[in-house]
Amino acid sequence: QSKMSRQVYINGKLVPAEQATVSVFDHGLLYGDGVFEGLRAYNGKVFKLDEHVRRLFESALAIRLSVPMSQPEMAKAIDDTVAANGIKDGYIRAVITRGAGTLGLDPNRCSDPQIIIIADSISLYPKEFYENGLELITSSVIRNHPAALSPRIKSLNYLNNILAKIEGLKAGCVEALMLNHKGEVAECTGDNIFLVKKGKLYTPPLDAGILEGVTRNAVLDLASEAGIQSSESAITKHDVYVADECFLTGTAAEIIPVVKVDDRVIGSGKPGPMTKELTEAFHTLVRA
Ligand code: PMP
Repeated sequence: QSKMSRQVYINGKLVPAEQATVSVFDHGLLYGDGVFEGLRAYNGKVFKLDEHVRRLFESALAIRLSVPMSQPEMAKAIDDTVAANGIKDGYIRAVITRGAGTLGLDPNRCSDPQIIIIADSISLYPKEFYENGLELITSSVIRNHPAALSPRIKSLNYLNNILAKIEGLKAGCVEALMLNHKGEVAECTGDNIFLVKKGKLYTPPLDAGILEGVTRNAVLDLASEAGIQSSESAITKHDVYVADECFLTGTAAEIIPVVKVDDRVIGSGKPGPMTKELTEAFHTLVRA
């Protein structure tokens, strides 16, 4: 990032960060009533921009928040914010709140959704995580029941994930595995999960109650291009323990190997060959 002060997009304008403010009556703050996206730029180009924008609008649709701009306008606003901040490799946060209302819950009293885009430098996970792999615990906090608050909605209410994250951090793990209400593997607090067993790739299906990760979809595409068979089907904790390889995917993490779960060593205890192959393919893709 250059010397110019950071420019934040808010409601159609780029303003200096200090001037980008929202009301204390905004229901995004009061109730977590809103949706967001986390995106990443490589060489000044936003990776899978249209897919992130589509997911953002689908999240908004699901909470019945009508976005006062079109998807192409949102994509352009994100590109403009990246350019205005001179970001080459960075992390972007797009937020849509319900807007300012009364202290009551009623979203109909919020007339002015706030659209905020922040483009920042990216704080990468330490290199050791990628070289040696992560250790996970399974959290006692189950992932939101899809009939309560669908994990497919990337809502501003991340308390479910945060509670699991706190438990992971207490146990010395930067990520924690979350099960769904059926006891199946869902995802981690901010990443999707993949297993490798006998040369085949496995990841929980959308109806396990997970976020449809953009990185997850990209990895499934890369696997298919590489002739690797993959399956989106229910996975148990046992499947994780006895997997040959395990890795997580997410915009910030990219692809991160997992070598221990609940004190069980996964496979060789080192990042495996398919994890490495897909990581290389992913690095090539994001810079393409
Ligand atoms: N699951 C959850 C709960 C997340 O917050 C994220 C990060 N957005 C992911 C999975 C990974 O999704 P993506 O690859 O789109 O970043």
